[in-house]
Amino acid sequence: MRRRRCLQRALGAVMRQPLTIVMYHYVRPIARSRYVGIKGLEKNDFLQQLDYLQRHYVMLSMVQAAACLRGDETLPSNAALLTFDDGYLDHYLHVFPHLLERGLTAAFYPPVCAARDRQVLDVNKIHYILACQPDSNLLIEQLDAAVEAARDRFDLLPLAQYVAEWKKPFGYDTAEVIYIKRMLQHVLPAALRGEIVDALFARCVSADEAAFADELYMDVAQLKTMIGAGMHVGGHGAAHDWLDRLSDDAQAADIATVRDFLGELGALDELFTFCYPYGGHNATTRRLLREAGCALAVTTEPRVAHVGEEDALTLPRLDTNAFPRQADAAFVEPKGW
Ligand SMILES: [Zn+2]
Repeated sequence: MRRRRCLQRALGAVMRQPLTIVMYHYVRPIARSRYVGIKGLEKNDFLQQLDYLQRHYVMLSMVQAAACLRGDETLPSNAALLTFDDGYLDHYLHVFPHLLERGLTAAFYPPVCAARDRQVLDVNKIHYILACQPDSNLLIEQLDAAVEAARDRFDLLPLAQYVAEWKKPFGYDTAEVIYIKRMLQHVLPAALRGEIVDALFARCVSADEAAFADELYMDVAQLKTMIGAGMHVGGHGAAHDWLDRLSDDAQAADIATVRDFLGELGALDELFTFCYPYGGHNATTRRLLREAGCALAVTTEPRVAHVGEEDALTLPRLDTNAFPRQADAAFVEPKGW
């Protein structure tokens, strides 16, 4: 066995066996939904992309991918693996039935606080605030007013300084949207961010967080149904924190909570895998996962993985946006191919 693994590793290094891991978030019929402003993948585009992927790739299950990474199975050429983050109800309603119909499986990564505790993640609240209030200048007025009102309670910079540093376009987002996102994601002190996000969410989206969580996330029963049908469910943090920003003890507690939750779901019987929230991890995270028997973990580093060369606990993944959305599109080499 050991010799076979060594040989495979040596061959892998020479042959560069690509494993394309695709990352999805919101997948739904957006144009027909209540939140047409939400940034996600239209269900029809998803189905077309599935056709495309099935035409050009060999779709692996998580168990097969783990076996290939261990060197126990040979990776097929053009192998791909599908992953769905954050435990959205979208995945149960609009993804799971189509995977079943096609005989495919995928990996799903719900945070414990959303799936079990029915809390809406701040990152999701920000998405919905932006979707429900398309006038970003109006949001900025409200954000800036809240910052000014909190100035005597927190150590804050002058607004002009935040604007100068963060109000810049990035990716597909305007300068205004980036300013709102950055201020609410990490620039302001955590306690103030939480206050402002909650106030804007209650004003623009919903005052009933628990009801909103039921609309947004899968619950324990739905996750168990998916596991029963052969889908893989792995860890995505207890509170969806950047793990590399937590103390060692807090990271250990987070991962222990995740393991307990997955154990209750019956998801650990087969395999324990992990998906780092925001892609954040450090040496402590990886050590704790290794000690907990984690078979593989995925990041947000946007490129193809090369089995035989990668650390199984830092596997790169490509966003759905990196792939065509037409069933008959010609093969496009993803980044790092
Ligand atoms: Zn996430």
